[in-house]
Amino acid sequence: MIKAAAYARYSSDNQREESIDAQLRYIREYCERNNMQLVKIYTDEAQSATTDDRPGFLQMIQDSSMGLFSAVIVHKLDRFSRDRYDSAFYKRQLKKNGVRLISVLENLDDSPESIILESVLEGMAEYYSRNLAREVMKGMRETALQCKHTGGKPPLGYDVAEDKTYIVNEQEAQAVRLIFEMYASGKGYSDIMYALNKEGYRTQTGRPFGKNSIHDILRNEKYRGVYIFNRSASKVNGKRNHHKSKDEDEIIRIEGGMPRIIDDETWERVQERMSKNKKGANSAKENYLLAGLIYCGKCGGAMTGTRKYAGRNKDLYVSYECSTRKRTKACDMKAINKNYVENIVIEHLEKNVFSPEAIERMVIKISEYAASQSKEINRDIKVFTDQLAGVQTEINNIVNAIAAGMFHPSMKEKMDGLEAKKASLNIKLEEARLQAQTHAPSEEMIRKYLQKDADIKNKSPEEQKRIIQTYAKKITVYENTIDIDTIVTFAGGGEGS
Ligand SMILES: [Zn+2]
Repeated sequence: MIKAAAYARYSSDNQREESIDAQLRYIREYCERNNMQLVKIYTDEAQSATTDDRPGFLQMIQDSSMGLFSAVIVHKLDRFSRDRYDSAFYKRQLKKNGVRLISVLENLDDSPESIILESVLEGMAEYYSRNLAREVMKGMRETALQCKHTGGKPPLGYDVAEDKTYIVNEQEAQAVRLIFEMYASGKGYSDIMYALNKEGYRTQTGRPFGKNSIHDILRNEKYRGVYIFNRSASKVNGKRNHHKSKDEDEIIRIEGGMPRIIDDETWERVQERMSKNKKGANSAKENYLLAGLIYCGKCGGAMTGTRKYAGRNKDLYVSYECSTRKRTKACDMKAINKNYVENIVIEHLEKNVFSPEAIERMVIKISEYAASQSKEINRDIKVFTDQLAGVQTEINNIVNAIAAGMFHPSMKEKMDGLEAKKASLNIKLEEARLQAQTHAPSEEMIRKYLQKDADIKNKSPEEQKRIIQTYAKKITVYENTIDIDTIVTFAGGGEGS
């Protein structure tokens, strides 16, 4: 019997989501139907849109290497990931550990067509939710222009008056002032956290202060009296992304639009210190586009990103280095320059995976695949509908018999069995219908999404990483050559292996 783990996630700011209990119920039913044994359950409940951590999720990923389960089941794929890159990255990690990801509502398999189709579908979902967010924004904009509260919890230090304008909450404002003053005087986050928690201050969600909440407060211009609307529109969708900055025209800033808590001088000192610290932290962070994909051709070990200052001028070298060599010196593979190898991979993808003729071939393959998927789904729908009709007839027969005065105790048992069967068929039918809806992108849609990715050279590093992580399978570095294995190959005129 296949051992499986369940993962469910719920954020309380999105009312349309299924509760954790409901998600787990669907997952349990799925296990029963498919003869799987549920051995572990992981859940995350986000208290607010501002907390972005997922302890349950990360624990599940970590545990996936222990061999406790060979499948992770989610109710819907969007429970598994926050965005496409996130999804590709963690799915790959599960795969490495021999763990399969299963969605109750979506059909997934590992063929190249399914991987690309999935990325197309995710891209579509992202596009639709952005449009939805834009609609909601329009209404909120009107309220915002009057410097009024637009919903949710007001920031720490403020209350909302009856006319929806902000007023200072003196007690909370004390905590805000403490944070700014301590930071301006050179104290670190842990000192501030300690002082706040000792005084009994709590965040807006009633939790002890953490580094993130302090950081967000120190960066919040509302405290110097600027009304701001709304840097995080995407939370409408429940999938907030801190790293994506909004288009400028989506932000309304009104100086003096709120009562101020922090004076300009303190504010300036804090910002100066923060940007100084940020510079150090930021330059230390590289975005390694090939993470998890690049291997040493000599020993087979993974190659991992490294930054080093070396040479007479202490120049910075950023590269991928063989992990065996790093650890034990048992391999003598030289490190390879990060930009050099990443550019080779990008060019390879551009030429081989995203050439106009390769795209056309992918469009055909993927839409054929999508069609075969929906054909299967439609067949399922027919089968379930017929079975349901049969069960209903049996139920009616018993009801009629009882109405006619024939009753036998075994009828009750029979009836319970039939009702259970009916309920389970209804769920299957609902699932199949949802699948049919979400798995039918047109050829034009598929083409559009592939063409967007084809411009990989001019994308942001984050987008480049997402595309590479989707289409590249493995990069092996030898002394004089680099092997690039992609999930689809359309080299030159003929098709490779
Ligand atoms: Zn090596």
